[in-house]
Amino acid sequence: MSLLVGEMKVCKKFEWEMGHRLLNHPGKCSRPHGHSYSAEVVFLASTSENGFAVELGAATVKLAPIFEQLDHAFMVREDDELFSYRQGKPESRGILRVPFEPTTENLAKMLFFKITSLELPVESVRVWETRKIWAEFTKSDSSFAEQRGELATCL
Ligand SMILES: [Zn+2]
Repeated sequence: MSLLVGEMKVCKKFEWEMGHRLLNHPGKCSRPHGHSYSAEVVFLASTSENGFAVELGAATVKLAPIFEQLDHAFMVREDDELFSYRQGKPESRGILRVPFEPTTENLAKMLFFKITSLELPVESVRVWETRKIWAEFTKSDSSFAEQRGELATCL
């Protein structure tokens, strides 16, 4: 059975409901609104003799708190004045202030670095904002590597 040992991609999908607002968007996305998001987290690892590349059960346990924090939350850029008055108050629970425009692209980058920091063999993270729009960040996208630390710890 050693013929079956080799690198393979394995994907785990997560789904969550979240609101956001894009300060620099010229259209409707500058309004507070929400989406049914999903993320496809792709792992690349060698299959073992037993035929598994990644122990998805253990990976899911590690990743669940990230998506639990995003679910039914509202993500805004940290300097979004619409939500600044709620800082520190009980009603601010679920408002996630991040150091970037909460676009699908940036969400994919942030999730990639956050999941990588958990020492999982992540190859890519594809975030679906709607059924028609997705953005993906892959291991080979090094253009934002300098932001790795900040993005991995911003939630
Ligand atoms: Zn949106």
